[in-house]
Amino acid sequence: MTKVVMITGGGRGIGAATARLAAKRGYAVCLSYKSREVDARRVVSEIEAAGGRALAVEADVSVDADVLRMFAACDRELGTLSALVNNAGVLEKQSRLEGIDTARLNRIFATNVFGVFACSRAAVHRMSIKRGGACGAIVNVSSVAARLGSAGEYVDYAASKGAIDTFTIGLANEVAEDGIRVNAVRPGFIYTEMHANGGEPRRVDRVKEFVPMKRGGSADEVAQAILWLISDEASFTTGSFVDVAGGK
Ligand code: NAP
Repeated sequence: MTKVVMITGGGRGIGAATARLAAKRGYAVCLSYKSREVDARRVVSEIEAAGGRALAVEADVSVDADVLRMFAACDRELGTLSALVNNAGVLEKQSRLEGIDTARLNRIFATNVFGVFACSRAAVHRMSIKRGGACGAIVNVSSVAARLGSAGEYVDYAASKGAIDTFTIGLANEVAEDGIRVNAVRPGFIYTEMHANGGEPRRVDRVKEFVPMKRGGSADEVAQAILWLISDEASFTTGSFVDVAGGK
Protein backbone atom coordinates (compact mmCIF):
# COMPACT_ATOMS: atom_id res chain seq x y z
CA MET A 1 0.00 0.00 0.00
CA THR A 2 1.29 3.48 -0.87
CA LYS A 3 2.38 5.44 2.18
CA VAL A 4 0.92 8.90 2.61
CA VAL A 5 2.86 11.85 4.02
CA MET A 6 1.51 15.27 4.90
CA ILE A 7 3.99 18.16 4.67
CA THR A 8 2.89 21.57 5.95
CA GLY A 9 4.31 24.49 3.99
CA GLY A 10 5.28 22.14 1.17
CA GLY A 11 5.13 24.62 -1.69
CA ARG A 12 8.63 26.03 -1.34
CA GLY A 13 11.88 25.88 0.58
CA ILE A 14 12.56 22.89 2.82
CA GLY A 15 8.95 21.70 2.55
CA ALA A 16 9.05 21.56 -1.26
CA ALA A 17 12.38 19.69 -1.25
CA THR A 18 10.87 17.22 1.23
CA ALA A 19 7.76 16.79 -0.91
CA ARG A 20 9.82 16.05 -4.04
CA LEU A 21 12.08 13.57 -2.25
CA ALA A 22 9.13 11.86 -0.54
CA ALA A 23 7.43 11.40 -3.92
CA LYS A 24 10.66 9.95 -5.33
CA ARG A 25 10.69 7.45 -2.47
CA GLY A 26 7.15 6.37 -3.35
CA TYR A 27 5.02 8.37 -0.92
CA ALA A 28 1.75 10.00 -1.94
CA VAL A 29 2.21 13.59 -0.77
CA CYS A 30 -0.32 16.00 0.70
CA LEU A 31 1.31 19.41 0.89
CA SER A 32 -0.20 22.53 2.36
CA TYR A 33 0.36 26.17 1.58
CA LYS A 34 -0.86 29.35 3.22
CA SER A 35 -0.81 31.88 0.37
CA ARG A 36 1.62 30.86 -2.39
CA GLU A 37 -0.75 28.67 -4.39
CA VAL A 38 1.28 28.85 -7.62
CA ASP A 39 4.37 27.43 -5.92
CA ALA A 40 2.40 24.62 -4.30
CA ARG A 41 0.68 23.71 -7.58
CA ARG A 42 4.08 23.65 -9.33
CA VAL A 43 5.40 21.08 -6.84
CA VAL A 44 2.27 18.95 -7.36
CA SER A 45 2.66 19.16 -11.16
CA GLU A 46 6.33 18.14 -10.95
CA ILE A 47 5.47 15.14 -8.79
CA GLU A 48 2.62 14.10 -11.08
CA ALA A 49 4.78 14.54 -14.19
CA ALA A 50 7.24 12.08 -12.65
CA GLY A 51 4.44 9.57 -12.09
CA GLY A 52 3.74 10.30 -8.42
CA ARG A 53 0.61 11.30 -6.48
CA ALA A 54 0.27 14.68 -4.79
CA LEU A 55 -2.36 17.04 -3.47
CA ALA A 56 -2.02 20.71 -2.53
CA VAL A 57 -4.37 22.12 0.12
CA GLU A 58 -4.67 25.76 1.14
CA ALA A 59 -4.57 25.78 4.95
CA ASP A 60 -3.24 28.12 7.61
CA VAL A 61 -1.85 25.80 10.31
CA SER A 62 -2.66 28.39 12.98
CA VAL A 63 -6.39 28.03 12.23
CA ASP A 64 -7.90 24.86 13.70
CA ALA A 65 -10.70 24.66 11.11
CA ASP A 66 -8.12 24.81 8.29
CA VAL A 67 -6.10 22.01 9.88
CA LEU A 68 -9.16 19.78 10.20
CA ARG A 69 -10.18 20.50 6.59
CA MET A 70 -6.63 19.75 5.38
CA PHE A 71 -6.47 16.37 7.14
CA ALA A 72 -9.96 15.47 5.89
CA ALA A 73 -8.91 16.27 2.31
CA CYS A 74 -5.83 14.10 2.71
CA ASP A 75 -7.91 11.19 4.09
CA ARG A 76 -10.39 11.49 1.26
CA GLU A 77 -7.98 11.98 -1.66
CA LEU A 78 -4.89 9.99 -0.67
CA GLY A 79 -5.87 7.53 2.07
CA THR A 80 -4.38 6.45 5.40
CA LEU A 81 -1.81 8.89 6.75
CA SER A 82 1.54 7.37 7.69
CA ALA A 83 3.69 10.44 8.31
CA LEU A 84 3.42 14.12 9.16
CA VAL A 85 6.17 16.69 8.62
CA ASN A 86 5.49 19.84 10.63
CA ASN A 87 7.52 22.13 8.39
CA ALA A 88 5.51 25.38 8.12
CA GLY A 89 7.26 28.12 10.06
CA VAL A 90 7.75 31.86 10.09
CA LEU A 91 10.02 34.56 11.37
CA GLU A 92 9.79 38.33 11.10
CA LYS A 93 12.17 41.23 10.67
CA GLN A 94 15.40 41.04 12.64
CA SER A 95 15.00 42.96 15.90
CA ARG A 96 16.12 43.10 19.51
CA LEU A 97 13.48 42.22 22.13
CA GLU A 98 12.57 45.90 22.62
CA GLY A 99 11.17 45.92 19.08
CA ILE A 100 9.10 42.75 19.46
CA ASP A 101 5.52 43.40 20.55
CA THR A 102 2.87 40.96 21.74
CA ALA A 103 1.04 40.98 18.41
CA ARG A 104 4.21 39.67 16.76
CA LEU A 105 4.69 37.04 19.48
CA ASN A 106 1.14 35.86 18.85
CA ARG A 107 1.80 35.53 15.11
CA ILE A 108 5.08 33.65 15.57
CA PHE A 109 3.79 31.26 18.21
CA ALA A 110 0.44 30.73 16.43
CA THR A 111 2.20 29.22 13.40
CA ASN A 112 5.43 27.79 14.81
CA VAL A 113 3.99 26.28 18.00
CA PHE A 114 0.19 26.13 18.05
CA GLY A 115 0.12 25.02 14.40
CA VAL A 116 2.47 22.14 15.19
CA PHE A 117 0.29 21.11 18.14
CA ALA A 118 -2.87 21.22 16.02
CA CYS A 119 -1.42 19.20 13.14
CA SER A 120 0.18 16.67 15.49
CA ARG A 121 -3.12 16.23 17.35
CA ALA A 122 -4.93 15.51 14.07
CA ALA A 123 -2.17 13.06 13.07
CA VAL A 124 -2.20 11.21 16.41
CA HIS A 125 -5.98 10.78 16.10
CA ARG A 126 -5.39 8.99 12.79
CA MET A 127 -2.14 7.08 13.45
CA SER A 128 -2.57 5.78 17.02
CA ILE A 129 -2.99 2.01 17.17
CA LYS A 130 -4.99 2.59 20.39
CA ARG A 131 -7.51 4.49 18.23
CA GLY A 132 -7.57 1.91 15.45
CA GLY A 133 -4.81 3.54 13.39
CA ALA A 134 -1.87 1.81 11.74
CA CYS A 135 1.18 3.51 13.37
CA GLY A 136 3.06 6.47 11.99
CA ALA A 137 5.84 9.00 12.32
CA ILE A 138 5.97 12.73 12.95
CA VAL A 139 8.94 14.96 12.17
CA ASN A 140 9.03 18.50 13.52
CA VAL A 141 11.18 21.04 11.71
CA SER A 142 12.84 22.89 14.56
CA SER A 143 16.03 24.94 14.18
CA VAL A 144 19.50 25.28 15.65
CA ALA A 145 18.06 28.61 16.82
CA ALA A 146 16.49 26.58 19.65
CA ARG A 147 20.03 25.96 20.95
CA LEU A 148 21.67 29.23 19.91
CA GLY A 149 18.91 31.71 20.85
CA SER A 150 19.21 34.10 17.85
CA ALA A 151 20.30 37.10 19.93
CA GLY A 152 19.76 40.43 18.16
CA GLU A 153 17.86 38.76 15.33
CA TYR A 154 14.73 36.97 16.52
CA VAL A 155 14.69 35.58 20.04
CA ASP A 156 10.94 35.08 19.58
CA TYR A 157 11.49 32.68 16.69
CA ALA A 158 14.27 30.86 18.58
CA ALA A 159 12.04 30.46 21.64
CA SER A 160 9.22 29.08 19.48
CA LYS A 161 11.64 26.43 18.19
CA GLY A 162 12.74 25.71 21.78
CA ALA A 163 9.08 24.94 22.51
CA ILE A 164 9.06 22.55 19.55
CA ASP A 165 12.10 20.70 20.90
CA THR A 166 10.39 20.21 24.27
CA PHE A 167 7.16 19.17 22.54
CA THR A 168 9.10 16.62 20.45
CA ILE A 169 10.46 14.91 23.57
CA GLY A 170 7.15 15.00 25.43
CA LEU A 171 4.98 13.80 22.56
CA ALA A 172 7.50 11.07 21.64
CA ASN A 173 7.22 9.63 25.15
CA GLU A 174 3.45 10.10 25.24
CA VAL A 175 2.65 8.27 22.00
CA ALA A 176 5.42 5.64 21.86
CA GLU A 177 2.95 2.94 22.90
CA ASP A 178 0.48 4.24 20.31
CA GLY A 179 2.95 3.14 17.61
CA ILE A 180 3.95 6.68 16.70
CA ARG A 181 7.54 7.95 16.53
CA VAL A 182 8.17 11.68 16.97
CA ASN A 183 11.50 13.27 16.07
CA ALA A 184 12.85 16.63 14.95
CA VAL A 185 15.38 18.00 12.54
CA ARG A 186 17.25 21.16 13.46
CA PRO A 187 18.42 22.89 10.28
CA GLY A 188 21.19 25.46 10.48
CA PHE A 189 21.60 28.21 7.91
CA ILE A 190 19.77 26.97 4.82
CA TYR A 191 19.39 28.80 1.50
CA THR A 192 15.64 29.54 1.31
CA GLU A 193 13.47 32.63 1.04
CA MET A 194 12.88 32.67 4.79
CA HIS A 195 15.82 34.98 5.40
CA ALA A 196 14.24 37.64 3.20
CA ASN A 197 11.33 37.71 5.66
CA GLY A 198 13.88 38.55 8.35
CA GLY A 199 14.95 41.52 6.22
CA GLU A 200 18.27 40.01 5.08
CA PRO A 201 17.94 37.88 1.92
CA ARG A 202 21.71 37.20 1.84
CA ARG A 203 21.97 36.30 5.53
CA VAL A 204 23.30 32.77 4.91
CA ASP A 205 26.30 34.16 3.00
CA ARG A 206 27.04 36.56 5.87
CA VAL A 207 26.88 33.98 8.67
CA LYS A 208 28.39 30.96 6.92
CA GLU A 209 31.85 31.95 8.21
CA PHE A 210 30.62 30.94 11.70
CA VAL A 211 29.73 27.43 10.51
CA PRO A 212 32.50 24.83 10.99
CA MET A 213 31.90 23.56 7.44
CA LYS A 214 32.07 27.20 6.19
CA ARG A 215 28.95 27.00 4.05
CA GLY A 216 25.18 27.20 4.17
CA GLY A 217 23.04 24.14 3.59
CA SER A 218 20.48 23.27 0.95
CA ALA A 219 16.84 22.40 1.41
CA ASP A 220 17.62 19.01 -0.15
CA GLU A 221 20.13 18.22 2.60
CA VAL A 222 17.44 18.84 5.23
CA ALA A 223 14.92 16.78 3.25
CA GLN A 224 17.27 13.76 3.33
CA ALA A 225 17.27 13.78 7.14
CA ILE A 226 13.49 14.18 7.30
CA LEU A 227 12.95 11.27 4.92
CA TRP A 228 15.22 9.05 7.00
CA LEU A 229 13.35 9.92 10.20
CA ILE A 230 9.94 9.07 8.74
CA SER A 231 11.23 5.87 7.14
CA ASP A 232 11.28 2.38 8.65
CA GLU A 233 15.08 2.66 8.69
CA ALA A 234 14.56 4.86 11.76
CA SER A 235 12.23 2.33 13.41
CA PHE A 236 13.94 2.51 16.85
CA THR A 237 14.46 6.28 16.80
CA THR A 238 12.05 8.52 18.69
CA GLY A 239 12.38 11.67 20.76
CA SER A 240 15.58 12.42 18.83
CA PHE A 241 17.08 15.35 16.99
CA VAL A 242 19.09 15.43 13.80
CA ASP A 243 21.03 18.66 13.40
CA VAL A 244 21.56 19.50 9.73
CA ALA A 245 23.80 22.44 10.32
CA GLY A 246 27.36 21.86 9.12
CA GLY A 247 28.56 21.48 12.71
CA LYS A 248 26.99 24.71 14.06
P1 NAP B 1 10.20 29.38 3.60
O1 NAP B 1 10.92 29.15 2.33
O2 NAP B 1 9.94 30.78 4.07
O3 NAP B 1 8.82 28.56 3.56
C1 NAP B 1 7.93 28.62 4.62
C2 NAP B 1 6.75 27.73 4.30
O4 NAP B 1 5.85 27.76 5.42
C3 NAP B 1 5.97 28.19 3.08
O5 NAP B 1 5.60 27.05 2.34
C4 NAP B 1 4.73 28.86 3.70
O6 NAP B 1 3.57 28.79 2.89
C5 NAP B 1 4.54 28.03 4.95
N1 NAP B 1 3.79 28.72 5.98
C6 NAP B 1 4.13 29.83 6.67
N2 NAP B 1 3.18 30.14 7.57
C7 NAP B 1 2.20 29.22 7.42
C8 NAP B 1 0.96 28.99 8.05
N3 NAP B 1 0.51 29.79 9.05
N4 NAP B 1 0.22 27.93 7.66
C9 NAP B 1 0.67 27.13 6.68
N5 NAP B 1 1.84 27.27 6.05
C10 NAP B 1 2.59 28.31 6.41
O7 NAP B 1 10.97 28.72 4.82
P2 NAP B 1 11.96 27.46 4.95
O8 NAP B 1 13.30 28.01 5.16
O9 NAP B 1 11.70 26.45 3.92
O10 NAP B 1 11.47 26.94 6.38
C11 NAP B 1 10.80 25.71 6.59
C12 NAP B 1 10.98 25.35 8.05
O11 NAP B 1 12.38 25.22 8.32
C13 NAP B 1 10.45 26.39 9.02
O12 NAP B 1 9.82 25.75 10.12
C14 NAP B 1 11.71 27.10 9.47
O13 NAP B 1 11.56 27.68 10.75
C15 NAP B 1 12.69 25.96 9.47
N6 NAP B 1 14.11 26.37 9.41
C16 NAP B 1 14.61 27.04 8.33
C17 NAP B 1 15.95 27.42 8.34
C18 NAP B 1 16.58 28.17 7.20
O14 NAP B 1 17.75 28.60 7.33
N7 NAP B 1 15.90 28.35 6.09
C19 NAP B 1 16.76 27.12 9.44
C20 NAP B 1 16.20 26.44 10.51
C21 NAP B 1 14.87 26.06 10.50
P3 NAP B 1 3.38 29.76 1.59
O15 NAP B 1 4.35 29.25 0.57
O16 NAP B 1 1.96 29.61 1.17
O17 NAP B 1 3.71 31.15 2.05
